[in-house]
Amino acid sequence: MNILISSCLLGEDVRYDAKSSSSSIKDKELFNKIINEFKIFSICPEVSGGLSIPRPPSEIVNDKVITTDGLDVTKMFNKGALNTLSYCKDNNIKIAILKSKSPSCGNSMVYDGTFTSTLKKSKGITTKLLQENGIKVFNETQLEQFCDYIKSSLK
Ligand code: SF4
Repeated sequence: MNILISSCLLGEDVRYDAKSSSSSIKDKELFNKIINEFKIFSICPEVSGGLSIPRPPSEIVNDKVITTDGLDVTKMFNKGALNTLSYCKDNNIKIAILKSKSPSCGNSMVYDGTFTSTLKKSKGITTKLLQENGIKVFNETQLEQFCDYIKSSLK
């Protein structure tokens, strides 16, 4: 089975601060088991959409994505989401593990657009598009749920 994983969770230094998100994976043993068991594909939607490493952090403000210094990067975020969807379609990917809280990859909570480190219940731009197209998205804190879902879908 083909699985999409956020590049930063796989140790690639693609985040806005030119670091990876490896440290956010609490159950490393299960994560490594998943990596070894499935065919893994990875992408960073923001880099794919044309944003640089490093880059200013961004938050979703109403219908736009804005950086801390006020730049509108909505186009790049949307492009990254479309590229990620095409990548999934091209590689028959129906399930993903994406980084939590990201304005691109988050699947349950994202920062609320006030740049005050406040989270709200919502989704990142890429996750929203993937889900609208039938792709199941988990985050790195939901590895058990991911495994349960795979088991039940194979029954
Ligand atoms: S866009 Fe996704 S893959 Fe790229 S750094 Fe942010 S959370 Fe990681």
